[in-house]
Amino acid sequence: MKFLECRSCGASMVIDPSGTTAHCPYCRSRYVLNHSDTDYYRDFYERMRGFFRLSKDGQERRIRADELWNNASEEVFECTDGRKIDIKSLNVFMDTDATVYTARQNIIFRFSPGNIEKADKFRRAVSSLDYPSADTKSLSDFFPTISGGFGLVDGSALLAVKKTEDEYPLRLFGKLDGRQTAWIVSRLENLCCVLEYSSIVHTNFSMDDVYIDPYDHIASIYGSWWKAVPNNTTVNGVTYTTRHNLTALRQIAAQVLGFESVSDVREYDGFPKPFADFLRSTPASNAYDDFAHWDEVLIQSYGERKFVTMDTDDEQIYGKR
Ligand SMILES: [Zn+2]
Repeated sequence: MKFLECRSCGASMVIDPSGTTAHCPYCRSRYVLNHSDTDYYRDFYERMRGFFRLSKDGQERRIRADELWNNASEEVFECTDGRKIDIKSLNVFMDTDATVYTARQNIIFRFSPGNIEKADKFRRAVSSLDYPSADTKSLSDFFPTISGGFGLVDGSALLAVKKTEDEYPLRLFGKLDGRQTAWIVSRLENLCCVLEYSSIVHTNFSMDDVYIDPYDHIASIYGSWWKAVPNNTTVNGVTYTTRHNLTALRQIAAQVLGFESVSDVREYDGFPKPFADFLRSTPASNAYDDFAHWDEVLIQSYGERKFVTMDTDDEQIYGKR
């Protein structure tokens, strides 16, 4: 995907899901894209959404994925021990504290020299994750597994997190319809139960932290772990509780549907009122109750039968399979 530079500070712009506006995560500048850029991003998103219609094992998927990665941008980093790390990335996202590269098998977070302690914060937050049962395998797959850390000669630090080849940043799919957004909400509700159980609040949980596998309908929370805090922590006068995770989940879903924020959410054909009401609602006081409520909303919105492949029952919530 091509990158747009911020005209004020030079950082990579974040393109909104409709492909019409972009904002800078550093200086908060907002731009309206010109027609050719809008066409480019809409076409890119459409090609990404094409993955939803392909079979995981099909040859077409392989060809399209190779095509995508052959056009990836490349950057070489020099480590303090003399090694060189070559990163081929499909997407580069400049967060306020780190630059995030999406490579084929990894997500690489690069912390600038003034922010390298955030790599340790990331590790600590991930290691504080706790799973409700002895069988943790399935749920831990949807949270970061750190595959390496490197110091660079320029004083910055790299942290690599594993991902599967079929996992892509949610943002790269642009705007999704109600049904696609529904399975993402189901998965994120499930993951918010793990955050609840672990007493972790993702203080700045956003679309850019979420990665999805369009074939298996899987969503994972891999980004921004250095911003995670224990439940009930006060930062700059704001007390963060696990309810913040659920508020952020609603905001992410609203954006995936193409709304600027939850207050703009309106029902339309294919996006039923119960679903819209849910996104506008105040979350339950804990993730387990919110997930149970969402399950009812899902049935009211689309009916039970159509979602047999994405059942999110108690066994999944508690990690027993
Ligand atoms: Zn900027």
